[in-house]
Amino acid sequence: MDDLEELRKIRRRVSASGEVTHLTGDADGDKVYIRTVKAELPSRFSMFKNIFNAMGIAVKTKFRSVGKKEQKRRHSICKNECQWYRAEDDRCSKCGCFTAFKTRLEAWHCPEGKW
Ligand code: SF4
Repeated sequence: MDDLEELRKIRRRVSASGEVTHLTGDADGDKVYIRTVKAELPSRFSMFKNIFNAMGIAVKTKFRSVGKKEQKRRHSICKNECQWYRAEDDRCSKCGCFTAFKTRLEAWHCPEGKW
């Protein structure tokens, strides 16, 4: 198993516990230390700005949905492959959005370019 897969396993385990969502690591020689850090949401002002912009784009594209399969794929990337994901409330700590909702519309994209 490669290091990335090992990190994903650790992340899933920690996320499932609902305590922490953000992992970070330090390398010291050949040892890697993994710390868990509480992922904070952006400021209220930033979240309001994000929602306002996202709704504007959604209106322009007439709220077109990506379909269930694509929504599942996107949501799975959030949950399993992203350090910004907050398992305790199913939110993205990068933009503050609820990921189950954000992954549904064609107009909305991951702020980190992951989907
Ligand atoms: S939207 Fe992007 S940055 Fe946010 S949790 Fe999902 S994959 Fe991560």
